[in-house]
This record gives sequence, C-alpha cells and structure tokens, in this order.
Amino acid sequence: MSDQHPHELIVLNPATEEVLATVPAADAADVDRAVARASAAQTGWAAAAPADRARLLRRFADVVDAHLDELAQLEVRGAGHLLGNARWEAGNARDLLLYSAGGVERLLGRQIPAPGGWDVTFHEPLGVVGVIAPWNFPMPIAAWGSFPALAAGNAVVLKPAETTPLTALRLAELALEAGLPEGLFHVLPGYGAVAGRALVDHPGVAKIVFTGSTRTGREVMERCARHVKPVTLELGGKSPNVVFADADLKRAVDPFSFLDNSGQDCCARTRILVQESVYDEVADHLARELSAVVVGDPADEATQMGPLISRQQVDRVRSFVPDDAQALRGTAPEGPGFWFPPTVLTGAAPDSDAAREEIFGPVAVLLPFTDEADAIRLANDTPYGLSGSIWTRDVGRALRVSQAVRAGNLSVNSHSSVRYWTPFGGFKQSGVGRELGPDALTAFTETKNVFISTEGPAQ
Ligand code: NDP
Repeated sequence: MSDQHPHELIVLNPATEEVLATVPAADAADVDRAVARASAAQTGWAAAAPADRARLLRRFADVVDAHLDELAQLEVRGAGHLLGNARWEAGNARDLLLYSAGGVERLLGRQIPAPGGWDVTFHEPLGVVGVIAPWNFPMPIAAWGSFPALAAGNAVVLKPAETTPLTALRLAELALEAGLPEGLFHVLPGYGAVAGRALVDHPGVAKIVFTGSTRTGREVMERCARHVKPVTLELGGKSPNVVFADADLKRAVDPFSFLDNSGQDCCARTRILVQESVYDEVADHLARELSAVVVGDPADEATQMGPLISRQQVDRVRSFVPDDAQALRGTAPEGPGFWFPPTVLTGAAPDSDAAREEIFGPVAVLLPFTDEADAIRLANDTPYGLSGSIWTRDVGRALRVSQAVRAGNLSVNSHSSVRYWTPFGGFKQSGVGRELGPDALTAFTETKNVFISTEGPAQ
C-alpha cells in the first residue's frame, strides 16, 4: 500500500454526501494474487467447449437480469444516476453478455490459399486482461471491457474507479452465482495510482483496456509500451453538435444531448455549433429549456438531472465557468450533495479552454458558424474526436459533413452514440482501438497462422 493512499475506499452518496460503504483498497500484492488466480482459471476456461462457455455467459446474463433493479438502485445511491438511466445501464451489461455469448461459437479463423499445403488462422485468447474503468458509467464501461474478453476465452481483472466500486463488485458476485469459475472475472477495487498502476505493470496481464481521462490514458500507454503490451484506450471527448439552419431545431438542440448523466459522458454534445441565421432562435430555445430542467434527487422518477460524482468534479467544472461568464443557466439544489446547474456558455471564444477541453459536467458552449466549410473547421478544432451529431435535412450535406468530421461515432439527425452491436471508440486524443460491435471479441485475441504442408514423402 502506498503511503499516500488509505487502505479503504470511502463510497459516498453524491446526492447527500453520506457514507454509503467502505471497501478495502487493493495493493500490489492483491493484484499479484488476483492475476495468479485469474491465470489459473483462464487455462480451463479457454479449453472448455465453446458452447459451454457461451451457456455460462448466458446464465450470467440471466442472473444479471434477475438483479436488474438491485443493480440500478445501487448505481442511484453510489453514483447519483437517475433510476431510469441506471436500469438501462444494468440492461446494457446484460445485453452485452448475451451478444458476446453469441460470438463464442463464431470466433472464426480463415483458410488462406497457399501452394504446397493448407494455411489456417486461429484467434487465440490473450490470457489475463486488465480492465480499468472510470466512474461515469460504472456498469456499462466495466462490461464493455470485460465481457467480450471473457467470451474470447480470457480471464479479466477489473479495477473500478475508487468512487464507484459497488456495482462492479456485485457483478462479480453474480458471475460466481451464475457458475463462472472462481477467479475468472475478478473485481479489484483500489486507487488508480496503486492498484491501477500495478495492473498495468504486471507481467502476467496480457492487455489493458482503459477508459478515463486522456492524461491518465497517456501514462497507461507509456507504461504498456515498456512491456510491449497491447492497449485499448477510450479517452475524453468534446463532441460537436452541428446544427444547420434547415434542421429540426427542437430535436437538434435537445439539452439532454449534453445534460444526460449530468454531462459526465465522454460523448456529450458539449459544443453546440449553430448556423448564424438561427443562432438567436436556438439561444432563446436553450434558455427556456435550461430553466425548466428538474435537478435533484436521482431516486425521484420526476428528476431529469442528478448530482455530479464528487466535490472534486464540481470544483473542476466550476473552474471552466467563472461567476461573471456570459451564460444561460438553470438551477440546482443548495446544501449537501455535489450539484451544478445546467449551463450554456454563450460568450466563450472558440479557442478557449471551455470550448476545446473536456469539462465533464452539465456545461456546453454555443458557437455560431457561417457555412458548411466553417462548420467542419470548427467541429474539428479540438484535440478530441470521439463523437458528434450533424443536423440537416440536406442528405448530400449530411454525408459530406460526416465524412469530413474526424470522430469515431457520428450520428445524423440523432444524438445516439452507443449500441453494443456497433463499434465504439475515438480518433485523435479520444483513444486507440475500438470496443463493442461485431469485432469486439477479436480485439481480445492473438491471430495465429499455421501452414500445414501437403507434400508427400520424397519419391
Ligand atoms: P482518470 O482517468 O484518472 O481515472 C479513470 C480510471 O483510471 C479510474 O479507475 C482511476 O482510478 C484509474 N487511474 C487513475 N490513475 C491511474 C494510473 N496512474 N494508472 C492506472 N489507472 C489509473 O479520471 P478521473 O477520475 O481523474 O477524472 C478526471 C477527468 O477525466 C474527468 O473530469 C473527465 O474529463 C475525464 N474522464 C473521462 C472519462 C471518459 O469516459 N472518457 C471517464 C472518466 C473521466 P481512481 O478512481 O482511483 O482515480
């Protein structure tokens, strides 16, 4: 255990600041033990018949389904998520288990023509995969890194964020209840600088899947490079919402495209780029919408936006919004809890930190553009490239702009980003590699090529 880090994680309810639980924090020795157990479990798991592995993952999905409401309630209390969102998140974990189970028996190699023999490829599991998850979507992001890896025949050691370990721990218990081998899906709560680093540096961990800030992702990648260890990085975003004057403005300028999960969403459409001829109309619409957003107790079904995850996150968000900033603002509760009002900055310069850096709170910037070329220039004027929306009724323009914006997940006339059956990941400093989608399992395998000679004995 590092001197600077306590032996426990203290989990707070972000809506009340009450202590919800204390959880032992793993140190490097715990990581060693978890990797050894995972490695032992992986050997049998990889050797099991694909149909048996698939069956166990489906059973795991059934057990998650039976505990959906319990998992959702835990996320409401431990992460401040709205109840409806938390139910969706637990359902997403269940659905990804089912989708991944469907891939186990379809993890196909190829037969490649070669003279003098047969050439075949195999997708072999990597071994033990380390997954480091953030606090903003504790269940889905833990699932995206872990479940396709398990389906491909690997074991997983998952380190959840120090603020939100509870649902990951419960998922690990449910895996055992479903009959997954002991140690195969191991959840190890702890501090990033201790347990996270130990997992990244562990020689027995074959790959790291990291989701979080670009700053920490860079360190993880550097450490992985020392071991020549493959890494998938899902990092920050500053996604544009490009609204042309001919768009359906009400749908296009939906405040929940950046307020969902209190803006703590790497795909949040926090750069609202609006054609100048409709700028004033959009600003008036946003002012009305923001003042009507119900911010409060996430367990109340009428609430539309809950708290932020921590005091630290509130302070970080506030640092981008000076008190005298030119802005449209909603309201937020006073008193205990980590609250911040829905905010749209109307006076931010396009090259300011507020317009280019990930804020990760309920704050967007509103910026005007002149024409299509200007919209594309502005949309790409950020170090990130994760997501974005394009709103226009002109099909040709929709296609041109979606080709020109450098981001991994775009939607036209929609704000959706994530489906477990389509690939997800970022361009530029938003990450490396892809999760989810039809190739999700392959990302957790090595390709082996075997040539088998058909030559007979010399005559
Ligand atoms: P981090 O990137 O620091 O944390 C993400 C995960 O990495 C956590 O599990 C964390 O553990 C762990 N971690 C931290 N340091 C290390 C390390 N040196 N080696 C290995 N693992 C480590 O994000 P923060 O929680 O500090 O959030 C800061 C900002 O990051 C946010 O404001 C937001 O902008 C961005 N962010 C982006 C996310 C995304 O989905 N793209 C998700 C979360 C944050 P621990 O919890 O102990 O710190």
